[in-house]
Amino acid sequence: MTGPRLVLREKRPQGSRVELAPGVVLGGRAFVVMAGPCAVESAAQIQEAAKAVAEAGCAVLRGGAFKPRTSPYAFQGLGAAGARLLGDAARRHGLLAISEVLDAADLPALEGIAVLQVGARNMHNSALLKTLSQLRRPVLLKRGLSATVEEWLLAAEYLLAGGNEQVILCERGIRTFEPATRNTLDLSAVAIAKQRTHLPVVVDPSHASGLRELIVPLSLAAAAVGADGLLVDVHPHPAEALCDGDQALPPEGLRDLMQRLPGVLAAVDRELWRAPLRRKAV
Ligand code: PEP
Ligand code: MN
Repeated sequence: MTGPRLVLREKRPQGSRVELAPGVVLGGRAFVVMAGPCAVESAAQIQEAAKAVAEAGCAVLRGGAFKPRTSPYAFQGLGAAGARLLGDAARRHGLLAISEVLDAADLPALEGIAVLQVGARNMHNSALLKTLSQLRRPVLLKRGLSATVEEWLLAAEYLLAGGNEQVILCERGIRTFEPATRNTLDLSAVAIAKQRTHLPVVVDPSHASGLRELIVPLSLAAAAVGADGLLVDVHPHPAEALCDGDQALPPEGLRDLMQRLPGVLAAVDRELWRAPLRRKAV
């Protein structure tokens, strides 16, 4: 009797909607694209990224401030200063922000961030999940690098069991024997998670593949299989990125993606969330 309970679809057959802000809902009819650099690197970089993300019509700006890096010698992120720069850039461009919480001690610095991301490396951190379960803020829960769907759902169960119902699942690829891609995007898991749970499910095609060339096709596949949105790496100058530049779209790549998504979404009776066009000042 230790399996998932509260996340199960039968608890809420109509599905859960996670409202990030008025009019920005995950799990509804609209497909929501969250985009931005893997890491916040400087004020200029995140402002430029925010401008590109807003101009492409997306709702949410991503940017890692507290970074879980495999090597202690890799860029570790700007921490609290990065979170502040991300929040400022998002507000200035009318966007919401998403950023990773590595540790409960990061939470005060992430106060102005709309969505708290739990990274793949922390999916099994039940102490962190219990802390986040006490909040009433949206949490995006990435699937662990080698986690089964059942383990992923049980991690989400921790959040709901503590009373936080604003949970979004994120498939970001799993470790397999295949070295051609950084990870292997498990689209079956997206379909299963949508069937078994009432939670919104998004796909991260950047961390799943590690390859810029695969982002558009994998994003279209995610839309076709029933995902509710994307979390995608976009960098104003990918070749200069301090982190994961090979898997980031440049601004024109994001525009291209936003143009291609509506065709696939129409086939599954969904539509793309796009910012209402701002009136040009005359
Ligand atoms: C990220 O999205 O910045 C990240 C570190 O991804 P993951 O936790 O999926 O490796
Ligand atoms: Mn990354």
